[in-house]
Amino acid sequence: MNTSFNFSGRLANLYDKIAAEEVDAFLITKQANVTYLSGFRGDSAVLFIGKNFRKLITDGRYIEQALNETKNFTLVEHTEGLYKKIVEEIKISGCKKIGFEGLVMTVAEHSYLKKELPNVEFKSVELDTLRQVKDAAEIAQIRRACKIADDAFEKILEFIKPDVREIEVAAELEYIMRRLGSEAAAFTTIVASGWRSALPHGTATDKKICAGELVTIDFGATFNGYHSDITRTVCVGKASAEQRKIYNLVLDAQLYGLEIITAGKGGKELDAAVRDRLTNAGYGRFFVHGLGHGVGLEIHEEPRLSKRSKCEKLFPNMIVTDEPGIYIANFGGVRIEDTILVTAGKAKPLTHSPKTLIEL
Ligand code: ZN
Ligand code: ZN
Repeated sequence: MNTSFNFSGRLANLYDKIAAEEVDAFLITKQANVTYLSGFRGDSAVLFIGKNFRKLITDGRYIEQALNETKNFTLVEHTEGLYKKIVEEIKISGCKKIGFEGLVMTVAEHSYLKKELPNVEFKSVELDTLRQVKDAAEIAQIRRACKIADDAFEKILEFIKPDVREIEVAAELEYIMRRLGSEAAAFTTIVASGWRSALPHGTATDKKICAGELVTIDFGATFNGYHSDITRTVCVGKASAEQRKIYNLVLDAQLYGLEIITAGKGGKELDAAVRDRLTNAGYGRFFVHGLGHGVGLEIHEEPRLSKRSKCEKLFPNMIVTDEPGIYIANFGGVRIEDTILVTAGKAKPLTHSPKTLIEL
């Protein structure tokens, strides 16, 4: 992993959190948080971090990789089960109160720890918010992932035509992104045409695209573990008056989001402001999801811009999406989404594909 990531700064923030939670150590089991704190990119490792120790526990498949990707961690190999080793390590540490990720650990794992370590107190903590504000190196990776997605979108347009199946568009798009350097699709690519464009998460099927249909394409690339997320909706042929009306309403809401998203505003108020815009136009009830979400090592992460957002205040260098949509059953839908960088002033889009209605 790119060594320009500021791991010492990240660990310093983690130690502040250990102090604030009044625990002796954290057991970190969410892979995005493991990667964020240690640099390890494999998909099976746990971090155990206390005042005077930092351990990465993994199995034989990943030792070589962990040696290459991490610094400042003692590598511990488990051969008879991860949680058995975790229990051993907790005993060695002498820690009496340990923070763990309650939204990630399974009930079975938690029960096992409590049974094996009856004198240790476990406290559920939330660590995802540590990753909300991005450093310069992270922003550079996401910028690159956005550029790959933009370049791929330009190329996929000539491929979208009547009789082509949604799944073929998704395959071609993912192939183009890989050729441009993407490690993997950021998530299962959404290609939703015609009536299926009313499904906000309509992943590509073998449905053939027909003339006159709206096609919503929601996709992203991955670069050095960091994601991009973009949606564009195009029309195959000339758009009807109703299709154009919906498109323009969503575009207006999306551009309004870009105007108002700024540091200091909260996730709920931003969602409500853009939602009001669609409600005033009579389409609020068709906007069935949140305005946006954080993007980073996970495709959906904190902060959320939604009715249930816990983010009271955005900070500069958060990266979020702005993605209003209208979905009308048996008619179709439109979503327009950019990945954007929050600043003290106006947010800066990191995805730049055209947003005026494209009629293919
Ligand atoms: Zn998306
Ligand atoms: Zn999104």
